[in-house]
Amino acid sequence: MAGNNTDQPHPDSHFDVVVIGGGIQGAGVVQAAQAAGYNCLILEKNYWGSGTSSKSSKLIHGGLRYLQSWEFSLVRESLRERSLLLSLAPQLVYGNWFYIPLYKGSRLRAWQLRAGLTLYWLLSGCRSDARFKVIPPAEWPELAGLKTAGLKKVYRYRDAQTDDAKLTSAVIQSAASMGAEVCSPAEVIAAESTPEGYRVLIKTSVGQRTVHCRFLVNAGGPWANRIARRITPEPGHLEVDLVQGIHLLLDRKISDRCFYLESPSDGRAVFVLPWYNTTLLGTTETGFDGDPDQVLPTAAERDYLLGILRHYFPDYDGRVCGEMAGLRVLPKATGGFHQRSREVEFVENSHYLAIYGGKLTGYRATAEKVLERIGKKLGPASAGRRGDTCRLPLTPAAEQP
Ligand SMILES: Cc1cc2nc3c(=O)[nH]c(=O)nc-3n(C[C@H](O)[C@H](O)[C@H](O)COP(=O)(O)OP(=O)(O)OC[C@H]3O[C@@H](n4cnc5c(N)ncnc54)[C@H](O)[C@@H]3O)c2cc1C
Repeated sequence: MAGNNTDQPHPDSHFDVVVIGGGIQGAGVVQAAQAAGYNCLILEKNYWGSGTSSKSSKLIHGGLRYLQSWEFSLVRESLRERSLLLSLAPQLVYGNWFYIPLYKGSRLRAWQLRAGLTLYWLLSGCRSDARFKVIPPAEWPELAGLKTAGLKKVYRYRDAQTDDAKLTSAVIQSAASMGAEVCSPAEVIAAESTPEGYRVLIKTSVGQRTVHCRFLVNAGGPWANRIARRITPEPGHLEVDLVQGIHLLLDRKISDRCFYLESPSDGRAVFVLPWYNTTLLGTTETGFDGDPDQVLPTAAERDYLLGILRHYFPDYDGRVCGEMAGLRVLPKATGGFHQRSREVEFVENSHYLAIYGGKLTGYRATAEKVLERIGKKLGPASAGRRGDTCRLPLTPAAEQP
């Protein structure tokens, strides 16, 4: 990657902001803070997006199903971000049609879905070319072999897909192009509070280095609480549940379109998506209490997803050619994971902020909220504003000059 990317930060460097974790949230924060004029460093222990940010369903969406849990402001914000990303990153974020079949016995009722899709369309700005519709039965045979026995209605609506890892790298590249120092692999092994902020000890492929910052951002995703424990004094943490979600890759593309399916066993939404020349099938929600570096799909999760695929596409003969597992960070609570809020939460103290949860889609909006808090603590940046994340284009790394 171009810019100031090195695997070894300059010894004893001083920064306004150091960000730990090069997933989408860390990438967003370093881009926003560097654009605002702060002098920033981001540290990633593996490669950009190597954590959850390359294991998502790769949807840039408002989250139709979050309307069922009344998360209207999250859906509204995400739809706004979707529309912005479609224009800022046209090579990385692209619209597609999503099909929802309703069968005799489906838990979701046609009136509920119609109400949800209407609201979704209203919240996304009522674009006439993105209006949902009912697919007439005469067109059902064109739906890639979707089971028609018991099929009552098929709805189609508009949403967007991305390549999550490439999107993360593009945001990192945007920060680097404005002068941020971006280091990977670089693992934060300890940090200590100082009168000015924090001293941060980093392990790189060539040894250890120390940097100083006025503000420390913990964007460690599922590792956030482990990172917090490496900081002296411990800055506090949020009680969370880590929830594993897997995807299977199947070697034959079912369709260029996307399918939003109701799991017959538990009613959860499961997606069947085109992904390059394969099919991406996911996801699951399985409680996880191990080491986030060791997250792996289980046999029960594979069976669950393949069972749903076979149920809806009985003649599909693609084979599993890959799999991935990621971890959601959800606020600790009792009850099902499916109903938990997907809103981002922060834990802060005077020179520190940790990000918990949130969505890939909303990373830019989250970063702007973090930036507002950094601004309150540090005051205006000494350098002038270098850009505005609402306007900075994002291009895939391979296509950059
Ligand atoms: C199965 C699944 C599907 C999802 N699907 C979608 C979707 O379709 N659309 C959507 O909008 N959202 C989706 N999400 C949510 C979204 O993927 C996540 O919210 C987002 O990727 C989290 O990004 P993050 O930067 O917080 O965490 P991560 O991407 O996990 O980044 C944290 C990074 O910190 C690094 N790190 C850890 N410890 C250290 C250390 N000591 N030093 C340096 N670096 C360290 C890790 O290596 C990692 O790269 C999904 C989530 C899951 C689990």
